[in-house]
Amino acid sequence: MQPRAHFSIWYVVGAFVLIILLQMLLVSLGEEKLSYSRFKELVQAEEIRDVVIGPDVIVGIYKAQGGVSGRTGRFKTVRVDDPGLVKDLQAHGVQFSGRYQSPWVRGILGWVVPLLLLFVLWRVIFKRMGTGTGVMTFGKSRARLYAQEKLEVRFDDVAGVDEAKEELKEIIDFLTVPERFQALGGRIPKGVLLVGHPGTGKTLLAKAVAGEAGVPFFSLSGSDFVEMFVGVGAARVRDLFAQAQQKAPCIIFIDELDALGKARGIGPTGGHDEREQTLNQLLAEMDGFDPKRGVVMMAATNRPEILDPALLRPGRFDRHILVDRPDLRGREDILRVHTRRVKLGARVDLKTLAARTPGMVGADLANVVNEAALLAARKNKKAVQMVDLEEAIDRVMAGLEKKNRVMSQKEREIVAYHELGHAITAEFLPHADPVHKVSIVPRGIAALGYTQQLPTEDRYLMTRSELLDRMAVLLGGRVAEEIVFGEISTGAHNDLEKASDTARRMVTEYGMSDRQGPVTFERERRPFFLETGHSTPKNYSEETAREIDEEVRTIINAAHERAKHVLTEWREALDRAAKILLKREVLEGSELRKLLKETGDKDRAVA
Ligand code: ADP
Ligand code: ZN
Repeated sequence: MQPRAHFSIWYVVGAFVLIILLQMLLVSLGEEKLSYSRFKELVQAEEIRDVVIGPDVIVGIYKAQGGVSGRTGRFKTVRVDDPGLVKDLQAHGVQFSGRYQSPWVRGILGWVVPLLLLFVLWRVIFKRMGTGTGVMTFGKSRARLYAQEKLEVRFDDVAGVDEAKEELKEIIDFLTVPERFQALGGRIPKGVLLVGHPGTGKTLLAKAVAGEAGVPFFSLSGSDFVEMFVGVGAARVRDLFAQAQQKAPCIIFIDELDALGKARGIGPTGGHDEREQTLNQLLAEMDGFDPKRGVVMMAATNRPEILDPALLRPGRFDRHILVDRPDLRGREDILRVHTRRVKLGARVDLKTLAARTPGMVGADLANVVNEAALLAARKNKKAVQMVDLEEAIDRVMAGLEKKNRVMSQKEREIVAYHELGHAITAEFLPHADPVHKVSIVPRGIAALGYTQQLPTEDRYLMTRSELLDRMAVLLGGRVAEEIVFGEISTGAHNDLEKASDTARRMVTEYGMSDRQGPVTFERERRPFFLETGHSTPKNYSEETAREIDEEVRTIINAAHERAKHVLTEWREALDRAAKILLKREVLEGSELRKLLKETGDKDRAVA
């Protein structure tokens, strides 16, 4: 509709310009060009019937029947300053008239045409740069371009992310029958943030939700919004929401939300007006739209920590779904999805392949299958064989290693021992929460593996013993590295920070230190987004500060010793568990406890 009409105007303008140019060309083709002296000669020879004298040129026609020279047709010559011209023309019976060029024609030729050309050129360049279509049509055409009506993607096409799928089912229920969903008392979902590494299938999941619910899918990338002109991004957001409301129920998906939603007022260049305006517009639209109509916002990011807190508030992107890297089983499932349309040789074993691809995400695995199919085709094979897949894995893996996206065997070992250090320490300290799961599937940006304890949420109250045990568990990872490898890696950095922080708080805030006694040393809460480089004012002396530091160190050392004690005693279990974890990548808490019990029984039997 709109863009079409807009286009046809340009066709008309283009045709118009073309016609004028053609006309000028044709006219000039039929003209003979004369020098002024030759022209004067011809006047004297009475070969010329009439002339039109313009400001710069003289055009004229030869006598119809042709003179002595037999010339016919038109000619043109450049006018020179010649006061005798009129007299000559009169003397030789040439008809003459002057020509007055209207300033309009001059203006059009001299100004408007070049301007038009410039404008056309400008638009072409902008299209090339991919930054929209200029000032008149921003937003509209682009958002339309991204509204997909009938998506073929289904949940079956996404594998290895069962937890995320489970959570998204509710969204599908809501989009399918909004009224019934509300009647059943479901809380209306408004914004869902998918968090996970690139290539884990966030976009695919969002599309699958739209596909399953059979609703239109509007998608834009956060980086699309960062426009050249202030105000364009905001207009685009407004436009997008207006269109989406008309199509409700539907899904609006914003990829790379972090490009748009970085916390305001930070970043290397300070504030970015345009991004801020766009972000504000987005926040306003999210607050403004009525979720009952069935518009669900979904967004994806791999850096949730840099998002503006305002985006995460209730009523905005308040539901966060982790789209994790797939574990062994998940990778097998993903390979199965992608090999559905590929002819496989009889001996292809997806399980073995999954075991060979630790650290790979869905996009990498899709890449592997694709690469293998190409390799097989190049060798004129009828089906993709195991060797093709193996070779493809090597190729993709090499690419990823270069980009530092997968761990080496040594790194995996370190991570496995580290995580088990946490886990085993937790199992043997009376006040630590039991282990739920240990995993060396990398998750998030910083964590290479993780150990999950239940309950996972922060508690409101913690006793001193609980805090001490928690610190020992935090240090357990580092201690395991020390015991097994004789050195520690940078992976333990975050644990140490957390443990020190807890210890410091015990001394300065909770009054839990024996030496300092039940006193609190006031400490200003740090503002949310200024994590570092902001020293807190002290209300105690240097002397006290030193004592606090010492006390913190004492507490940390004690925790370190306790973890070391546990892990040294359970070294054999640690090795056994590490072997399993390296093979399977995930170890359930119950499995770990069983293993510890077996090892313990054996020890006792030997003793
Ligand atoms: P993200 O948005 O998280 O960066 P995408 O959804 O764009 O990742 O994934 C890119 C491609 O990788 C998908 O189109 C799909 O082919 C494949 N892929 C990624 N994750 C999965 C998955 N869990 N299951 C199946 N295919 C996947
Ligand atoms: Zn750790």
